[in-house]
Amino acid sequence: MGVLSAVLAACAHLSAEPTPEARELLIAHRRKGVDPGTKWSVAAHKADVARRTPWPLLCIAAAIPVVSIAVLWRKSAELGEPLWLILAVCLATYWVDLMSGMLHLALDNPANLTSPAIKGLCLGFQQHHVNPAMIYKMDMSDHLRPMVTALISSQVLGVLIHGYDCVGLCVLLLLLTLLLPWMQLCHRWAHLPASQRSQLVSALQRVGLALSPAHHHAHHEAPYLHMFCILTGHANPLLNRIIQIPGFSPHSGIWAPAFICAKIALIISFPLAVQ
Ligand SMILES: [Zn+2]
Ligand SMILES: [Zn+2]
Repeated sequence: MGVLSAVLAACAHLSAEPTPEARELLIAHRRKGVDPGTKWSVAAHKADVARRTPWPLLCIAAAIPVVSIAVLWRKSAELGEPLWLILAVCLATYWVDLMSGMLHLALDNPANLTSPAIKGLCLGFQQHHVNPAMIYKMDMSDHLRPMVTALISSQVLGVLIHGYDCVGLCVLLLLLTLLLPWMQLCHRWAHLPASQRSQLVSALQRVGLALSPAHHHAHHEAPYLHMFCILTGHANPLLNRIIQIPGFSPHSGIWAPAFICAKIALIISFPLAVQ
């Protein structure tokens, strides 16, 4: 009976008329090359990831936590109170979740499909709406590898602002070394069918250490206008409210610059706060 109701519900969903917003989005996608009928090739995606993040970048990214631990080993006495450090790490984790939503907002915007700087990323995110299963069909390494660029850009900016041997920056870089791949895993696990999820992953999702599949699936309903955060999702209630404010709507052009400002703010403030 349960299976029958699920099938009937799915049929009702498939036959439902798309909302005017969903229809408009579909037309915008077709005009700009996102074809809902296209199933991405996993092999083509692998080649694209390898081209964008070659081995030298992977080696540089791998060196970042090693150098950070070495600096912390020498200068750990410069860190502040342990309780304050834990609080700062929790706040930074929430902030990274919020930033994941800001970037997602920019990359889901059909208007950005023609932006030379981010059109490739936009295409990837908007194709993900069309073909959400690919996220768990691709190799794990191809899913994690793009985070290398985000880590290196944070390190370069941090060193320019604080110098290479700043202990607070080293804590932040270690935190990002954990959070960026964790974010990718959380998004992947949110799409993985329940039958393929391990008990550990389901438990992490239940206690809020990983993104809730139910919350993320709410994002995956056309026209994809809420629930954008993909780390733990704890920042979703705040971001869902912000996007109701005039000028901050999901398809506003503000989200790419807002994400850049949020990233700079984190890199400036976190190292100053923890030492
Ligand atoms: Zn999306
Ligand atoms: Zn998704």
